[in-house]
Amino acid sequence: MKPASTPSVSGWHLRDARELAREQGVDPAQGLSEDEARLRAGRHGPNALQETSGRGLLSLVAAQCKDFMVIVLLAAAIASGVIGDLSDTLAILMILLLNAAIGIAQAWRADRAIAALRQLAAAQATVLRGGHLETVPASVLVPGDIVQLEAGNHIPADLRLIEVAQLQVDESALTGESVAVAKQSVAMSANSSAFLADRLNMAFKGTVATHGRGTGIVMATGMATELGKVARLLDTAERSTPLQRRLAGFGRRLSIAVLGICLVIFGLGVLRGEGLLPMALTAISLAVAAIPEALPAVVTVLLALGARRMAAVHALVRRLPSVETLGSVTTICSDKTGTLTQNRMQVELLLANGRQWVPGDSLPGVVHREALLAAVLCNDARQSGGDTPGDWQGDPTETALVRAGLSGGIDKAAMDEALPRVQEQPFDSGRKRMTTVHSGAHDYVAYTKGAPESVLPCCEARWTPDGPAPLDSANVLEQANTLAGQGLRVLALARRNHPRLPDANALAEVECRLQFLGLLALIDPPRLEAADAVRDCIGAGITPVMITGDHPATARAIAYRLGIVPERDAEVVTGVDLASLDDTALRERVARARVFARVDPAQKIRIVEALQARGEFVAMTGDGVNDAPALKRAEIGVAMGKNGTDVARESSSLVLLDDNFATIVAAVREGRRIYDNIRKFVRYAMTGNSGEIWTIALAPLFLLPIPLLPIHILWINLVTDGLPGLALAAEPAESGIMRRPPRPPTESLFAHGMWQHIVSIGLLIAGLCLGVQAWALAGGQRHWQTMVFTVLTLSQMAHVLAIRSEQTPLWRLGLRSNLPLLAAVLLTFGLQLAAIYVPILNMIFKTEPLGPQDLGICLGASSVAGIAVEIEKAWRRRATRFRADARALRHPCASRLR
Ligand code: ATP
Repeated sequence: MKPASTPSVSGWHLRDARELAREQGVDPAQGLSEDEARLRAGRHGPNALQETSGRGLLSLVAAQCKDFMVIVLLAAAIASGVIGDLSDTLAILMILLLNAAIGIAQAWRADRAIAALRQLAAAQATVLRGGHLETVPASVLVPGDIVQLEAGNHIPADLRLIEVAQLQVDESALTGESVAVAKQSVAMSANSSAFLADRLNMAFKGTVATHGRGTGIVMATGMATELGKVARLLDTAERSTPLQRRLAGFGRRLSIAVLGICLVIFGLGVLRGEGLLPMALTAISLAVAAIPEALPAVVTVLLALGARRMAAVHALVRRLPSVETLGSVTTICSDKTGTLTQNRMQVELLLANGRQWVPGDSLPGVVHREALLAAVLCNDARQSGGDTPGDWQGDPTETALVRAGLSGGIDKAAMDEALPRVQEQPFDSGRKRMTTVHSGAHDYVAYTKGAPESVLPCCEARWTPDGPAPLDSANVLEQANTLAGQGLRVLALARRNHPRLPDANALAEVECRLQFLGLLALIDPPRLEAADAVRDCIGAGITPVMITGDHPATARAIAYRLGIVPERDAEVVTGVDLASLDDTALRERVARARVFARVDPAQKIRIVEALQARGEFVAMTGDGVNDAPALKRAEIGVAMGKNGTDVARESSSLVLLDDNFATIVAAVREGRRIYDNIRKFVRYAMTGNSGEIWTIALAPLFLLPIPLLPIHILWINLVTDGLPGLALAAEPAESGIMRRPPRPPTESLFAHGMWQHIVSIGLLIAGLCLGVQAWALAGGQRHWQTMVFTVLTLSQMAHVLAIRSEQTPLWRLGLRSNLPLLAAVLLTFGLQLAAIYVPILNMIFKTEPLGPQDLGICLGASSVAGIAVEIEKAWRRRATRFRADARALRHPCASRLR
């Protein structure tokens, strides 16, 4: 069904492309000059859709004021001020203001960090400027720019196409039409339909090239595009992460419990004869301090800061939740070419007519020359236009072929001119081959290159200068196998003469009855860091799996070299095997198989699903259009930033800016660190709150007066929760972080004894406070309240230093390994001393200066909290010491990895 879109007034589709280019003042062979592009950018603005604006300062302030408990506290403080002490009210107001300011700063920082990440993930475009091809952010395109499109590209602006090669575009985002549209470059007739979907020579912003190539001239950018007109901004960014949602839900339940406790405290106080208003203020202050309303915001900050650090190690997080889920990955399915290998292809040898040629040697015969000609003509590498004329850009396989051609005396640029390409069947990883047709002096010649199993069935003979000769395909395949077994990438080359230009749409006609030329073997060395990354994975309980479009023997050889499989003759599951396995059988196979070869991208999704059915948590890499479904299906879709397509990036949650397998492992490590730090923050904040509640709630049981004034409670909440909590984001990774198994995704944030810790250390802190209170009261000290106030603040500082690691003792971590935290602790300590010793603050906080002995007692009592955590850690160390090693030893590759 055609969508009912309003015909546009532009009518570009009716006009000749060259004429439009003239009108736009651009030469399609050169593009705009940089100066002209800058001028136009000033006139037209950035090529971006106006986003629904982020949260402004006002809405952040409003969000803070909406907090119900803060409003109740304000009301109570004002009421008590009206009746009695106005200075109390003012002090409470001040602290609440400061608290709100910190809350706003946290939310603002989270928003900024997320916006910065979005910026990094922005789409790119290939544009011709001043005769050079450049990759630029799509936002800098201006009308008149000449843009190149390839399968997998997002169309960056509204383009009038001037050249297409089998270009197909998925316009469903704009028109609702789900079938990809085949594009053309010729002008359409005046009486053709004006529906967007029918403008075959236009490509619209927001749609996606799914096949072929094309070049277009930018006619409209930003809000002037068709997409801008319908203003349909596809904002897929998720507002909150699962962890944040879980925390928010938990916060609500906890708030109810805290309110209940505060009510009981209030009731007990009143029963004991305390004043109604002071008691109400105490109870409400406690509720404000103990309700963890800031948890979700702090978690966002920790995740976003973590995501920024990941970007620095070349892992760009597109969806914030994946930062927290990365730590749960149990299987990483990775491409081979470029991810595990260097993608620095080099032709090792050419085997033709029974003789080998190695680049650097002189060519042994005409067949070799013809094979090299096929390799450089059936080739999309482009001259980079840089200062060195010999520089070629494009697929590394193809640029390697151009270099090999040159060393055999065949110059691609000259050959492209002598035998211009008139038609092509682009490479796609499903067919695993490509063909180009070139016009010669009297006829046409088609060259094909691709995977041997894909090209040989199309060959009927062997090419020789004297005419076709018989071809022994089985023997050639055997030779290809032998080369692949050495880890080489093998391509077969073939050709065919056509007296007339074949029909471009009849694939079967173009790629049949070919004459075989030879086999080319390329070397693509494994990445140096990949073997270490594989070893890290295995140690961390993560299974690395290779899924490649390459030959099974090549895949196996590389997998063995990297330690992915333990034996040279390890099992390899091929795409053909996959097709013959039903889902149950596949589930069995994926339990053992570590290498999948000659796999179509479309088959990747079955592998992901089979792994998931076995309970695995899968990270899957991909770069092409067809990889998108598998990337979306995997828990963590990982796209290539350098060589990947926009579509793959859009479907992924993580983009590797360096296309490197080791970066995935680094991201997993970082994800584990961030999750650990979130747990540390929750552990710290909740234990502090629990200490405050127990202190106030238990005092009456020991017949002690209420230990703290409302202002003390609010102050403690202010100085302890804000800075030290956030500084935990800078905590380095735990030492054995990659030697423990992945965290089950459903595991509670409070697992591994966190609840027990919160309750017991909270009780200990309360015990210390009440002990000091009782001791001071018994000694007739007037400043007993100042001492309790100090112990409660400083014991939280001792606690935060001790919980920096779940296992390693503080003296081994060293204070300098987290300088922001050290600074936060020292600052809090200083502020607390100020509250005790600065006269004006004595008035506000109703404190009294402590003598050296009393201060010493406070310090001693506070450090007990830290010592208790150290004892708990020592006990935990004993329990887990040998677990990780035992697991690594169980892995089949362990003996080779040691
Ligand atoms: P991976 O999936 O690990 O990235 P790959 O690059 O080998 O590996 P594909 O790009 O799907 O996967 O390529 C599959 C096969 O197609 C290759 O093994 C090769 O034989 C052939 N091939 C790759 N690139 C080209 C090309 N530019 N022209 C012709 N054939 C190619």
